[in-house]
Amino acid sequence: MPYNTTVYRPGNNLRLATFWMWPNRHYRIADSIEFSMDVEIAWCHRCEEFVECERLYTEQEIQDSIDKIAAWDWEDEDSHRIASWVERARNYPDSSDGIPMDLTCQALYDAWVAALAWRKARKTPPRCLECGSFFAIVVIPHGKDVPHPGGDGLVRIGGGEHGSFSSWPTQLFYNAEGLLIDQLEYQEWRRLRSRPLTESEREAAP
Ligand SMILES: [Zn+2]
Repeated sequence: MPYNTTVYRPGNNLRLATFWMWPNRHYRIADSIEFSMDVEIAWCHRCEEFVECERLYTEQEIQDSIDKIAAWDWEDEDSHRIASWVERARNYPDSSDGIPMDLTCQALYDAWVAALAWRKARKTPPRCLECGSFFAIVVIPHGKDVPHPGGDGLVRIGGGEHGSFSSWPTQLFYNAEGLLIDQLEYQEWRRLRSRPLTESEREAAP
C-alpha cells in the first residue's frame, strides 16, 4: 500500500495537492521489456496544477542496479528473501502474494541492461504525466521551501502518510519517450505475468 506525497504551504501547513505514489507506471520498450518509471512532483504551466512527472534515472543509477543484481550473494539475507519470493511464485503461480513469475533475477538483470540502452538513446526531457509536455514543467525539490511556480508564496513537499486501499490502480505503460501507450487493470496485468515458467526458464532460473 502506498505512501503519499503532499504539496503544502510551509507557513500554515495548508495542503495544496496530494499524490499517492503507487508504483503503477512502467516503461515498455522493444515490445516486451518493462521496467518501472520513477516519478516526482512538478508544477505544470500547461495543466496549471501540481502534477506527477517523470524523473529520468541517471545512467549511473541504472548501472548501479545492474551491478547490484549481478553481485547478488545468495548467502545474503536479502538475496534469500528474494529467492524465496521467486520460489513461491514458481510453486504457486496463482498465489496473489507471489511475485510475478517472470521476475526472476535474470529477467531483472535483462530489464536493467535494456534500461541503460534506453537511457542513452532517450531524446526528450522528462514529461508531465498529465499532458505529456516537457517544456512546461518545474520540478519541486524535496524538503525545501520554494516559490510557488504558478502562484504566490512558498510551497514545500512533504508527506509520508500511509494509505490503505481496497484495490490496486490501473497499470500504465509508456514508450521510450515517456508517452502513454497502454493501460491494464491490475488483475489483468498480474494474470498476464503469472504465466507458468517454460522448461528452459525453469532450468535457467537461479
Ligand atoms: Zn501538464
